[in-house]
Amino acid sequence: MTKYLFAPPAVASVPIRGSDAHFPIRRIFCVGRNFEAHAREMGLEADREAPFYFTKATAHYAPSGATVPYPPGTANYHHEMELVAGIGKAGFRIPESQSLSHVFGYACGLDMTRRDLQIQAREKRLPWDLAKDFENAAVLSELAPASGIGHPARGKIELKVNGTVRQSSDLGLMIHPLPAIIAHLSRFYHLQPGDLIFTGTPEGVGPVAAGDHIEGIIEGVGRIALDIGAAD
Ligand code: MN
Repeated sequence: MTKYLFAPPAVASVPIRGSDAHFPIRRIFCVGRNFEAHAREMGLEADREAPFYFTKATAHYAPSGATVPYPPGTANYHHEMELVAGIGKAGFRIPESQSLSHVFGYACGLDMTRRDLQIQAREKRLPWDLAKDFENAAVLSELAPASGIGHPARGKIELKVNGTVRQSSDLGLMIHPLPAIIAHLSRFYHLQPGDLIFTGTPEGVGPVAAGDHIEGIIEGVGRIALDIGAAD
């Protein structure tokens, strides 16, 4: 038995709908600019050739329903509503035609973003970590097994802040649909059970402030909520 200097961190895990088991999170991959209208609102062109990725630490997971403090170092904290796929079966160089058989289930996700830091990083051609990978920046609903809901390729994706619709689109508008993402990502990583893939946000991203209430839905998948607390 390895002796640890201090107690190792608990495994971050997502509740599974209809089960008392949790889905342990291994890695969190996120696709950038996967909706044309979002790429445009960011002042950029979408890349149709291939998806690109950034990652978030597993420790930065927060569950739906949480109240999270307004994060430090930003004055422009944004919501990004996304479909998240949870990998249930290992695979490497997965053919697109088999890719969905590696997906255990789906969740609603919020890719919370310090937008001002992202734009500063972009302008200086620096990495996005401070903008994307921070405490409570990976918010997830319960995971709905694909055995129950199938593999949603179309359907409404919507986010409201304090009851007002901010993001409303359709999963069918993704530039790189999930099968293409899995085929591409698995050329660079040996995908493993517990890996999560945030598939990108539609247009309408915007700032939230302390006291705001976020609610999102994805047709056929579920719903997610987040409350923004005061800065600590
Ligand atoms: Mn995103």
